[in-house]
Amino acid sequence: MIGHRFTCGVTNTHLFAWLRKPWRIKAMTRPSSDLAAFREIFSKSNNIAIITGAGVSAESGVPTFRGAGGYWRKWQSQDLATPTAFAHNPSRVWEFYHYRREVMLTKNPNPAHLAIAECEERLGKQGRKVTVITQNIDELHRRAGSKNLLEIHGSLFKTRCMMCGHEEANYKSPICAALEGRGAPDPETHDAQIPVEQLPRCEHRGCNGLLRPAVVWFGETLDSDILTHAEKALDSCDLCLVVGTSSVVYPAAMFAPQVAARGVPVAEFNMENTPATERFKFHFHGPCGTTLPPALARHETAFDIQLLTTTSNSTAFTLIRLILL
Ligand SMILES: [Zn+2]
Repeated sequence: MIGHRFTCGVTNTHLFAWLRKPWRIKAMTRPSSDLAAFREIFSKSNNIAIITGAGVSAESGVPTFRGAGGYWRKWQSQDLATPTAFAHNPSRVWEFYHYRREVMLTKNPNPAHLAIAECEERLGKQGRKVTVITQNIDELHRRAGSKNLLEIHGSLFKTRCMMCGHEEANYKSPICAALEGRGAPDPETHDAQIPVEQLPRCEHRGCNGLLRPAVVWFGETLDSDILTHAEKALDSCDLCLVVGTSSVVYPAAMFAPQVAARGVPVAEFNMENTPATERFKFHFHGPCGTTLPPALARHETAFDIQLLTTTSNSTAFTLIRLILL
């Protein structure tokens, strides 16, 4: 955009005026890493949206099959997680997903997942709300205890029928007999070439259609209901956390601008040093399993409102809220 403006013949006078604009100066400001300042805002927030990405899963050792070294056999996720790949070779794609499901049996939520879940439960007792919006499909947030959870990319542990569209949770291991012992990731492994009738099939009302993983593949659109819920959470939040992904890359980049446009503080917790923009107020560098727990820990002045519900009436409630703030 800037280069385009230049080539359009903007004069130097206009250029310098543009560079001196207050928002430009603001954009050059580095985000704060002042934990006490974050904690002050956190303690006053009643509606927190937490956007999480691959970095949170990576800290639990979950492979993403993307980027350098991220291969399953000879392929990366973008080669196999597509409707075209499934149409051409459903056996190979199911081997890939079977492997990923089985790997998850050996992985556990890390301190970042647990801190988020514990925060949701604790704040819930104080009448405050936490919504987790994740691109991760491994259900580690769910296993950690998060309940108000929007999995915008679906789940490894859900299937959808190609015939009737029925979608359901599926935790079978293996998901079907023919996939037992299959899915090895080594580049030398040959395709199992499982006949399509032996791949996972729909058991809903005798349908018997071919099942696929209920995840959002490359080239597919997000579920509109989930997206609507995510947008509602972001429209109403008074604090937004971006965890294990950058607020300038997908999926946070899709959501962060609308939050920032309302003047809501955004705090990033990730391993990357991202370019400072006016979009976020805080950046905490490091593994989110290390940085997030102290950030979301119980505030010194906070206590469970449930402990005091025996005396609850509107006056008491008002006083309690004042103390919490
Ligand atoms: Zn079906």
